[in-house]
Amino acid sequence: MDRRRFLQRGALAATLLPGPARLLAQAPVPLFDPIGPIMPIRASPDRLFRITVCLRPFRAAGPRIESEQVGRKLVVHNYGHGGSGWSLSWGSARLALAQVMAASPKEIAVIGAGALGITAAIMAQRAGLKVTIYARERFPDVRSARATGSWTPDSRVAMANAVAPAFADLWSGMAHSSYAMWQSYVGLPGDPVEWTDRYTLSDLPPDEMRAAFRASEVAGFAHYADRIADITPRSQLFGPGSHPFATRYALRNSQMMFNVAGLAHRLTDDFLTAGGRIETADFHAPSDLGRLKEKVIINCTGYGARALFGDESIIPIRGQIAWLLPQAGVNYGLFYDNVSVLGRRDGIVVQDMGPDDRFGFGDPGEAPDRAAAEASVRTIAALFSARAG
Ligand SMILES: Cc1cc2nc3c(=O)[nH]c(=O)nc-3n(C[C@H](O)[C@H](O)[C@H](O)COP(=O)(O)OP(=O)(O)OC[C@H]3O[C@@H](n4cnc5c(N)ncnc54)[C@H](O)[C@@H]3O)c2cc1C
Repeated sequence: MDRRRFLQRGALAATLLPGPARLLAQAPVPLFDPIGPIMPIRASPDRLFRITVCLRPFRAAGPRIESEQVGRKLVVHNYGHGGSGWSLSWGSARLALAQVMAASPKEIAVIGAGALGITAAIMAQRAGLKVTIYARERFPDVRSARATGSWTPDSRVAMANAVAPAFADLWSGMAHSSYAMWQSYVGLPGDPVEWTDRYTLSDLPPDEMRAAFRASEVAGFAHYADRIADITPRSQLFGPGSHPFATRYALRNSQMMFNVAGLAHRLTDDFLTAGGRIETADFHAPSDLGRLKEKVIINCTGYGARALFGDESIIPIRGQIAWLLPQAGVNYGLFYDNVSVLGRRDGIVVQDMGPDDRFGFGDPGEAPDRAAAEASVRTIAALFSARAG
């Protein structure tokens, strides 16, 4: 196993990054807190029930949250969240809404019904506004429905050397307020959001892991992770012989998980119950927004903003998920050999993360790759076979 294989960009970055130095010095895992029995994943290509592809709307400068006058409309942009759209959504909505409220509207339009659109719409309702969402697609057809479903606020959200100096504070504010809002969805019927354990598995000792992580940083916000150390649970390192996996080391941490199917229903229901309306609409140019009756618009078109607003700063970062049938007891996540696995209520999502953040960068292809999906599943099968053997 090479050093890259220990890494999980995004999903565990928030845990690793503030952690490695502390990890080396951390106290041993207490006797009352061992890794309990792990239900093996039935990782067989025969259990694949779908393969989905999504494009992360990446901007090197970070998400675009700013106002623009388009004809007679005030458009507040809220797009370009890379691999962090679910995680940062509420915090981003809060920033966009502050710009909306400066115009004192009574009703607004939101373009887009993905993670950013639905959360911005709910936030605007809570501020007392009447809201209509206009979108080409809605759940489950939006790209947001095809995300992994993890708290990954620093995943491919910007390029460290391309952001404005104020971005770090902006990002930190977004992450904190989003995190607080997501906590209010934990424990609801159907568990739209829940805390689960994740295991990063490797033969590398933690000091080499730290060096390897630094080497793989491309589009992450690794060095900003100390800013969310206060809301990041500590991870625990299990050495050889002290955990049930076939690798020498297992790093465990707890992380928020979005059960995206149930969560999308919950958010949509909340929006409609509060009097919101969703209309199907397809816009081909900014001037098309002129036909809306609302004078203030929040633009949450994600990757679609590239075509609609001609914003070529949006780069697609392709990601594919292989879906294994859900399995009782598999409510944990793994990262092993560049493959990430997350046991959700709506399926076990398996994703090839590639060697670093550049994996899928600039690739707008959304056709599923069955051979790649099966290869990722076999990697996980090998992990559990080695454990059994
Ligand atoms: C494989 C993968 C895994 C990911 N995992 C995670 C994760 O675990 N955690 C996380 O936080 N993030 C994750 N992400 C990132 C996250 O999925 C995105 O940041 C997020 O989906 C972006 O949401 P959005 O609402 O901006 O865009 P979208 O979901 O694409 O929604 C855009 C909306 O705008 C509408 N629209 C677009 N153009 C037009 C137009 N011209 N006219 C009318 N309507 C239009 C669309 O129909 C849609 O309703 C992942 C991404 C990928 C690819």
